Amino acid sequence: MCGVIGIAGSAKSAKSGAEYRAAYEAYRGLLTLQHRGQDAAGILSYDDLSKMFYQKRDLGLVAQVFDRDNIENLTGQMAIGHTRYATTGGNSRRDIQPLLTGAPFGLGMVHNGNIVNHKMLAQKLTADLKRQLLTENDLEVLLYYWSHYLLGGRDVHKDSFSFENMQRATEMIFENFRGGYAVIGLVAQSGMVAFRDPHGLRPLVLGRRTEENGETRYCVTSETVALNYLGYDFMRDIRPGELIFIDLDGRLHSADLAESRTPKTPCAFEWIYFSAAESTIEKESVYKVRLRLGTQLGIKARAAIEAGEISPDVVMPVPDTSRSAAIAAADLLGLPYREGLIKNRYVHRSFILNTQEEREDAVHLKLSPIKSEIEGKNILLIDDSVVRGTTSKRIISLLKKNGAKEIVLGVTSPPLRYGCFYGIDFPDPAELVANEKTVEDIADWAGARKFIYLDESDLKIAAAKSSMCMACMNGKYPAGKEDIAAFAAQRKAERLRNSAEKTATAKTEKKGKKERYA
Ligand code: SF4
Repeated sequence: MCGVIGIAGSAKSAKSGAEYRAAYEAYRGLLTLQHRGQDAAGILSYDDLSKMFYQKRDLGLVAQVFDRDNIENLTGQMAIGHTRYATTGGNSRRDIQPLLTGAPFGLGMVHNGNIVNHKMLAQKLTADLKRQLLTENDLEVLLYYWSHYLLGGRDVHKDSFSFENMQRATEMIFENFRGGYAVIGLVAQSGMVAFRDPHGLRPLVLGRRTEENGETRYCVTSETVALNYLGYDFMRDIRPGELIFIDLDGRLHSADLAESRTPKTPCAFEWIYFSAAESTIEKESVYKVRLRLGTQLGIKARAAIEAGEISPDVVMPVPDTSRSAAIAAADLLGLPYREGLIKNRYVHRSFILNTQEEREDAVHLKLSPIKSEIEGKNILLIDDSVVRGTTSKRIISLLKKNGAKEIVLGVTSPPLRYGCFYGIDFPDPAELVANEKTVEDIADWAGARKFIYLDESDLKIAAAKSSMCMACMNGKYPAGKEDIAAFAAQRKAERLRNSAEKTATAKTEKKGKKERYA
C-alpha cells in the first residue's frame, strides 16, 4: 500500500523558473496520504520552460524528507509524489519512487500496488530489450515497457506522444501486467498520464479546480482526502482500466481500455482499514462503510447476547480505525460506548511496520489504558482486523491488567487466511493466526471470552458492493492465480533478507552505542 498524487496545470500559465506550486501541492497532498506508507517519500516535477525534471526523494516521513528549500527547487507546472510502504524490493534508497528515465524520452512514474509477474517481465526486458534495471522495484519494469510500447519499436518522433499511442501502450500494459496497480506518470514535453489496472484493485480518484485566472488544474490521487485538503472538486473515481492524460495545455483526455467482461474488484480492505475515514472510495464514504461494518457486527453480537454467550457492559474501540464501527455497534446494542485505550499518535501503525520486533514494540508504546473505563467491565472490544493475533493478545492482556472482567473481540472483517499480492504486505500465510487455529482456539489463546468475525456477505452489505477483492479472506484472486506461487516465494525471500538486514543494522547500532558509552 502506498499513496500517490499527481498535479497538472497548463504550461502557458506557469511563470518563470520560480513556479513550484505543483510540487508544493503534491507535498501537501502527500501529508494527507502519510497513512498509506511511512517508509519513504518522493516528489518529481517537470518544468516545460527549462525542459527539465527536478526530484527529491528519501527514506522517512513526508515532513522529514521535505523542507521549504528543497520544495522550491522542484519547479514546473506538473508534479507527481509518492509515500512508500515497501512491498516488492526492499526498503533501500534505490527503490524509492518516483522512478525516472531520460531515454528514449523523459518519463517519471509513481505507483501503488504490486505487479505479480514482474520478475518474468524483468527477465524479458533485460534479455529481449537489453534494458539495465537499476532497482528491484516492479514499477521500473512497467515504466520501461510503457515507454517501449508507446514508441511501438520506432525512434521518438513528433507523433510519438499522441493520445492514441498512449492508449495502445496502456492496453499492452493491461494485457501483459498482472496484479493491482494505480499509476501516475509525467511525460517530458507532453503531459501527465494516469491509469488503473482493469480490476481496479487499488484506488485512484480525479479532481479539478478552476483558478482565478480561468486555468483548470487537475489532481489525480489515491484518496479524496487529498483532493479535499487541496481544494480540488472531486470529479470521479478513475475507472478500472481507464487511461487519463492531461496535456501541457491543461486539456483532459480519457479512454476506457479494459474489456467490459473484466470483473471490477476494488480492495475491500481500503474501507476496512487502509483509507482515511474522511475519504470516499468508489462512491462509498469510508466513514459510513465503517459505521455499517459496526452495525453488522452489532447484529452478530446481539445474537450472541440473546443466546446467553456474552454479556457486555460497554463497547470499546481499538483506536483509531475501529472507532466508527464501535459507535455503530454500541448504538445497535443500546450499550454505552467508551474509550478505554488512547493512542500515541507518534508511533507508526503496527501492522505496516516491517519486522515482528518493531510491531511488538509499537503495540507496547502506542496504547495507553484509561483504568476508570476498563476496571470491572465486560468489554465488547472492536478491532478492524486480526493478522498474526499478537497485537490482539497484547491488547486483551493490557485490558485485563487494568481490571477488565471479560473481553469479547469483535472484528470488522472475516478471518484473514491468505496472502495479498496486490500491494499489501500481509505476512506469510503460515503466520496468519486464522490459519493456525479455529476461531474458538484463537479466543482461548488470546485470553478472550469469544471472537466475533464478520463474514463476506456483511462486507458486501456494508460497502454496498456486489463485487470486491476479498482474496486475503477467501483465496479468490481476481487477477488470476498464475504467478502467485512464484511471487509469494519471492516476497518470502525478500522479507527474510530485509529482516536480516534490519537485525544486522540494529546490532551494529547497539554495538556502536556500547562502545561510545564504554
Ligand atoms: S487480497 Fe485483501 S488486501 Fe489485497 S487487494 Fe484483495 S482485499 Fe485488498
